[in-house]
Amino acid sequence: MSAEQFSRLSLGEAMVTTRAGAAKAARASPRSPRDSNQDQPLPSIESTSPISPTPSLVISTKNLHYNVSAFDTDLRRTAKRGLEGNDIRMKYCAISDEEDSPDGSPTKYFYIGDDITVAIGGKLKRPKCTCGANDKGIACKHIYWVADQIISTVSDDVVKTPLHLSPDGSMIEDVKPADILDNKGLAMIANDLRWVYRDDDLPESNEEMKDDVISKLSVFEPQEALPGEFRSPESPLTSERSKKYQEFADLFIQYAIRDPSLYLQVHKILDPDFESRVFFEKIDNRITLTFNGLDEYIANGPTTTSPGPLRFDVPSCAKKLTALVKAIDDFYQHHTDVEDVAVRAAAALITILDRVTDRNVNAYAGITWGMEAPSDPVKNNLYVALIGTCVDGEPFVLDALESLPQEDVSRNHWGTLQDIQRKLAASDTPAPYMDTFQSLLYESRKRPASETRGGEPKRAMQ
Ligand SMILES: [Zn+2]
Repeated sequence: MSAEQFSRLSLGEAMVTTRAGAAKAARASPRSPRDSNQDQPLPSIESTSPISPTPSLVISTKNLHYNVSAFDTDLRRTAKRGLEGNDIRMKYCAISDEEDSPDGSPTKYFYIGDDITVAIGGKLKRPKCTCGANDKGIACKHIYWVADQIISTVSDDVVKTPLHLSPDGSMIEDVKPADILDNKGLAMIANDLRWVYRDDDLPESNEEMKDDVISKLSVFEPQEALPGEFRSPESPLTSERSKKYQEFADLFIQYAIRDPSLYLQVHKILDPDFESRVFFEKIDNRITLTFNGLDEYIANGPTTTSPGPLRFDVPSCAKKLTALVKAIDDFYQHHTDVEDVAVRAAAALITILDRVTDRNVNAYAGITWGMEAPSDPVKNNLYVALIGTCVDGEPFVLDALESLPQEDVSRNHWGTLQDIQRKLAASDTPAPYMDTFQSLLYESRKRPASETRGGEPKRAMQ
């Protein structure tokens, strides 16, 4: 039986008891004496008083019928405003990680437009609202609105008859919205009502939220910018489309800071798996473009026809590859708990290393376009520029590779890693770099891929 079926069943039973014991329910709810004829046919929707716009029957936005004849004029008006509250908008809802009741049930929070928050359950005996109208414990329109929304998510036969509300909003007939929240679960109720449900903490500062939203939105950046590049100020190479895109992103961030439900929805749409697939598609594309850029420069010399920089020589290529390795490492560090990010990062890093170790040659040895080629190997040999001169400092690619789980490094790449080892050994590789590579290879070998395949699959962060 699903949780929902269970919830419906238990609530259904509760309400059958309710209807069977209508008299008991009537005794349980505090009502005025003039309510004693409540089992009579209901009065018309028209108010009993021609002046007061406060009918005793209210039909809510969820099409539930409420008998508010026991309420005084003020409370009738409040109930009507809440139950018919088309102007009330849920931003998002969340479960508190503090303030548990003695039986372990946490408080649920409902963040409504105009910076109003309704809290239900947990230690609270009755719902609370921050709007100010709820100070004396009598429900305000927001509390009635939330209660109506919650009760509308239980099965139809529970809510056929006109319902009675308690003045504090804690009971509808003899059902507590707080109990529905506990039985059915806030996440499922939010799903039924298409409310945004917050299941993770929001960023602590506006700056953090801004960074996060910019990273997410970079999946749409029209020049295929990586998250870190998208964040930096525009360069002369920034296209008009990218500039417009950055303006749009800024606008979106302003609204997301005001209404975190936008932030939460962006997180649901651009889920971590999608974000990571787009990121590594861009990375793979960049790796190809970077090596092709160098090859094209070597073959044809500086070009004015392509949009990139004029000189795509060995130092420029080395700089771009170093930046790509850093971008991969940064992305992995921010997404360590996302499924497959380590696998994708390992594949991209090993591709870069493999292709650099193929290039222990003077790149300009056979050029035909009349440049005086630099004689310094650091300037004409990609391998020397990135690995051959790496005596101290961070070993190119290896520092990023080392931080990945080693089974993800060895999986599918064992043959390539051995090829790289052979090429490094034949290339006069500086001892510190060679040592780091050997120990990495040793770590990978300790856990062959066959041992890790049967392990628990990692869960994507939601
Ligand atoms: Zn309120």
